Amino acid sequence: MSEPVLPSMRVDGQTALVTGAGRGIGKGCAIALAEAGADLFVMSRTESELDEVVAQIEEVGRSAQKIVCDVSDGAAIRRHIGEIDRLDILVNNAGILRPSSLLDLSEDDLDDMLQVNCRGAVLVAQAAAEIMTRQESGVIVNMSSTFGVNGRANNSIYSATKHFIEGFTKSTAVELAPLGIRVAAVGPTAIDTPLTHDRLNDPEIGGDLLSRIPMGRFGQITDVVGAVVFLSSPAAALVSGTTLMVDGGWSAQ
Ligand code: NAD
Repeated sequence: MSEPVLPSMRVDGQTALVTGAGRGIGKGCAIALAEAGADLFVMSRTESELDEVVAQIEEVGRSAQKIVCDVSDGAAIRRHIGEIDRLDILVNNAGILRPSSLLDLSEDDLDDMLQVNCRGAVLVAQAAAEIMTRQESGVIVNMSSTFGVNGRANNSIYSATKHFIEGFTKSTAVELAPLGIRVAAVGPTAIDTPLTHDRLNDPEIGGDLLSRIPMGRFGQITDVVGAVVFLSSPAAALVSGTTLMVDGGWSAQ
């Protein structure tokens, strides 16, 4: 009999941590990784949302533990993640969007986006990489965006934070590769989630976004989770330092 050639997208028996897992893309990633065989740690600030995600993961036969924590709280992140024995997959997903023109940008919105999207992503990746370094294996999947590679009026800081994720992904991929750790990113276009639902349904904003997507539709959460599970899995064993765009062709123009 010949050896199988098709690599597996299953992650049976592996342990994954997803940040921002209470709703939207993070929730979808957590449940999909459970369906692919992983046991989960789900992190978010809102405990009631996490209770629902834990129940859905247990329904598919995997275990889930909630971590109620703000990703920008370094001490809390180190304490919670430091208690985890084994971590094979990190989906570094928590992020916020505060659209504003440069002239109207408030210092609070500037600070909050930098805190969560940049500082939070680094603190979580750092704590996860410490465990993965001990194991000499692991994969980190960061959540970028179309706006990690394209500019967007009235979103300069959000776009800048996602460009930060692109640079962070490439550099940590190079640094951590000798330690057996892969780092990659996913770059979604406008995805219909609680973060974006109202904006996508606004005729002016939603219409403009839609006109820039060659495939002519907004993304659904399932469009993103497939890319995340692929990058987390043995099927992506040599994929590191790159972003898998899930943007209907936007960034190809
Ligand atoms: P969402 O608002 O629907 O969900 C975000 C989740 O992150 C929530 O569970 C929230 O509680 C959690 N969260 C927010 N700040 C946090 C913090 N400081 N600490 C811990 N948890 C925190 O958002 P979403 O649309 O699912 O977006 C998820 C990620 O995908 C973000 O990084 C976002 O930038 C990125 N993204 C989204 C889209 C889109 O169109 N929805 C497109 C490209 C990229």
